[in-house]
Amino acid sequence: MSVGGVTKVVVVGGGCSGTLVAKEIIARWGDQACEVLVVDPAETPGRGVAYATSCPSHLLNVPAEQMSAHPDRPGHFAAWAHCRDAGVDNDSFAPRMLYGDYLEDVWRDAQRSVPAASSLAHHRSRVVSLTAAHDGSSVRVGLEHGDAVAADHVVLAMGNLPPSVGAGLAPGMARSARYIADPWRPGALDELTGSVLLIGTGLTAIDTALALVDRGIIGPIRALSRHGLLPRTHRPDAPAVCPLVSAPAERTVRSLIALLRGNADTYGDWRRAIDEFRPHVAEVWRTMSDIERRRFLRHAARFWEIHRHRMAPEIADRVGNLIAASRLSVRAGVIESYRELPGALEVVIRRRHSTGTALISVSHVINCTGPQLRVSEAGDRLVDDLLGSGTVRPGPFGLGLDVAEDGAVIDAQGVRSRRVWSIGPLRRGAEWETTAVREIRSQAVSLATRLLAVERSEQLPVHVEVQDTLPSALLTTIATAVASPGVERAGVIS
Ligand SMILES: Cc1cc2nc3c(=O)[nH]c(=O)nc-3n(C[C@H](O)[C@H](O)[C@H](O)COP(=O)(O)OP(=O)(O)OC[C@H]3O[C@@H](n4cnc5c(N)ncnc54)[C@H](O)[C@@H]3O)c2cc1C
Repeated sequence: MSVGGVTKVVVVGGGCSGTLVAKEIIARWGDQACEVLVVDPAETPGRGVAYATSCPSHLLNVPAEQMSAHPDRPGHFAAWAHCRDAGVDNDSFAPRMLYGDYLEDVWRDAQRSVPAASSLAHHRSRVVSLTAAHDGSSVRVGLEHGDAVAADHVVLAMGNLPPSVGAGLAPGMARSARYIADPWRPGALDELTGSVLLIGTGLTAIDTALALVDRGIIGPIRALSRHGLLPRTHRPDAPAVCPLVSAPAERTVRSLIALLRGNADTYGDWRRAIDEFRPHVAEVWRTMSDIERRRFLRHAARFWEIHRHRMAPEIADRVGNLIAASRLSVRAGVIESYRELPGALEVVIRRRHSTGTALISVSHVINCTGPQLRVSEAGDRLVDDLLGSGTVRPGPFGLGLDVAEDGAVIDAQGVRSRRVWSIGPLRRGAEWETTAVREIRSQAVSLATRLLAVERSEQLPVHVEVQDTLPSALLTTIATAVASPGVERAGVIS
């Protein structure tokens, strides 16, 4: 409940999700005064993990015209980027660092447009705990080094959790000094020379391979994953795809695959079949049975990911050239064992569908399995605090957090929160398609609108201290009033 009519919102994380939800609150709350505080360790909110790269080879995997921060102004990013670099047009796959500049600009624009009674600020820190006030009227947001702030609402926008440390390794290998657990950590690739083994063959592995090549590493670079599948490629100059008008009726993996295949054949373009279906993924995912969702995760998720998250055409060309020159190889298999040698790691790889093994010697092994999706294994201080206190529980299949359709987190008892909300990749288990800018910007709008509705319904709280000595008729009247929306419950009436 807001104090003095000013609602305090703390946004945990200032990546794309935190920045966009903060901007939407400022833009949409009008005369409802609010103090929005974004907590993030970065110097300026905006970039997060994905757009903090300084490597020019790291491109967006979506054409510029689809990357606007504003759902109602689709060409906004493309026009912004074109002003800074005339080579960028609607169809370009722009550098991710340019998109980081854009998001910082979006943040500064939001700061410039704050209404008089409101504020928008950034605090450089990390949130380590959330504690509800005993009457549930606010949340104490604990920061590193012992500081704390109070909030009426908290939006969890912690985004992509760091990669799972030991993913795809032989036992003990994660402790090797030659193992790099997180390629996104600033400086992680700085000292590398010689040949390397990448664990993973998705977009993170492609990013890492190109960053290593840019640094002059001759290789060979070997990428290994269970299926050995690289992301597919965008079609250059592909026309924009209109979404299906409504979600398809199919709710089994088999029938959905048949639908996508049929549509792909009809259009002569599988990309169109995927892209027109994508806006309905969250609804389809939410309404599929657990058995079917489990079937999808076991048999189809990897195939969906490589078709859905595609490489920019110029990145695919570079990857093709590196493979042709034997500087990069991509294999399906698993690490069976390893041995530390002076100056190298000797790794035994068991190939998929083969009884034989291959022995390779590499200077480093790099974890390119991408963001950790299972919150209970993330080893994140805040997530562990929230799980430990029962404020949140893991989402379906342990992916992300369990959340209601409007983003309210669901606690360990299955009760939705009125104070703690989520946006972005943390909604993975509940919505599946929730990590890209297109989904995030829509969530930011609906969450800002939802919080405003909650605040308006809670305005002008009547806090009633009921005395035992009051006549019983008056007690009944007060009890009825207290039970109605917009009236805060007094402690003595339970
Ligand atoms: C390498 C990569 C490339 C991508 N490319 C594209 C693309 O081209 N197009 C597209 O649409 N999507 C892309 N994505 C998807 C991406 O997930 C979203 O676009 C978006 O960046 C997600 O933003 P976020 O704010 O949710 O998460 P993040 O970028 O992970 O930001 C979260 C922020 O929260 C902070 N934080 C975490 N915990 C705390 C805490 N306890 N206290 C305070 N702060 C905290 C972190 O430091 C970070 O700054 C890409 C993702 C990755 C990983």
